[in-house]
Amino acid sequence: MDLFEHQAKELFADYGVPVPAGKVARTAEEAREAAAGFAATGHPRVVVKAQVKTGGRGKAGGVRVADGPDQAQVIAGQILGMEIKGHLVRSVLVEEASEIAQEYYLSFLVDRAGRQFLSICSVQGGMEIEEVARTRPDAVARVPVSPLTGVDRALAQQIVTAGGLPEQARDGAAELAERLWAVFTDEDATLVEVNPMILTTDGRVVALDGKVTLDDNAAFRQEHGRFADPEAADPLEARARARHLNYVKLDGQVGIIGNGAGLVMSTLDVVAYAGEEFGGIRPANFLDIGGGASAEVMASGLEIVLSDPSVRAVLVNVFGGITSCDAVASGIVSAIGMLAGRGEPARHPIVVRLDGNNAAQGRRILDEANIAVVEQAATMDEAARRAAELASLAARGA
Ligand code: GDP
Ligand code: MN
Repeated sequence: MDLFEHQAKELFADYGVPVPAGKVARTAEEAREAAAGFAATGHPRVVVKAQVKTGGRGKAGGVRVADGPDQAQVIAGQILGMEIKGHLVRSVLVEEASEIAQEYYLSFLVDRAGRQFLSICSVQGGMEIEEVARTRPDAVARVPVSPLTGVDRALAQQIVTAGGLPEQARDGAAELAERLWAVFTDEDATLVEVNPMILTTDGRVVALDGKVTLDDNAAFRQEHGRFADPEAADPLEARARARHLNYVKLDGQVGIIGNGAGLVMSTLDVVAYAGEEFGGIRPANFLDIGGGASAEVMASGLEIVLSDPSVRAVLVNVFGGITSCDAVASGIVSAIGMLAGRGEPARHPIVVRLDGNNAAQGRRILDEANIAVVEQAATMDEAARRAAELASLAARGA
């Protein structure tokens, strides 16, 4: 999960990383009030910053300085509702403006290829680090960080020195780096980036921007629920999560339901491969209904998949193991009945492939149920090909 800048800065503040005082506003009026609060404490100049999970906000006009509450309100009114690289601006961060002497770059990230962590530091901050690396590779230091020993003050000093930071910024930057490392490890982040980390005209080193990616696999041992962003979540994914379904929305036309993550993953591949023959038909989602595959779970799964407007056909691919195929087949039959009963009958073709434990009985149950939208296929390849074909026919309006 990526954090908004203001969330990243809240985390930074918890760990003693210096950040400017700031307040989030969702309306121009709120932005004015926030600026008025800072003006009352002797800081009329504020910066109004679009809160979107993408970089380059400055260049897009999403970061602007205001000289007081009136101007902050006007600017916030202009930034709210803007679209930056496809991201709608729903809120702004109003911050006490900083007096910048210099802008640096500092980050920690996972170096998968090197099986370690990496710190990147540069005296050339403010712009995209890829750009700096291309134009002035000598100004970008890449310092490996061992997972066993981490970042102590000595390594932090080494990082900021390697980055070419001037003498007067090094102590402050090293202290910031050490605390940022604590954010990185204690919060289970895979990236923390501060660009720019600034030296102020009065000699302090401050995180002026913050980008944090948290490792969702560590969510169980963290309290990151407070950072969730329901407005941005895919509505289908949100509904699936509420039903405890393991669902990921993709951008194709064949809805996929299977049991077991590995089987579903390979089903996605097989459908994408088969779909090439039909003009680029692709899987519409990942949905693993797990081992149980009861009628209720199958109904929830079918309902979610069928309510995706881009779905044209569904492929149910089940390998009976502990749950036998006859139970799955009965689940499919009652799921389709349940949906019809709720006034949302399945309108798209559903190709079912059953194999494994009690497959013959399962197939017989489906045959005898004689449901118009359901057809069976004997193998996974056949099922994928047929589902792709049906989806392409439906997509062409045939
Ligand atoms: P990004 O463009 O999305 O990375 O947004 P940043 O938060 O990095 O801001 C972009 C640029 O705006 C920074 O590099 C600074 O040059 C400038 N900026 C941001 N905050 C302030 C501030 O408080 N004072 C001044 N003078 N400039 C700022
Ligand atoms: Mn930035």
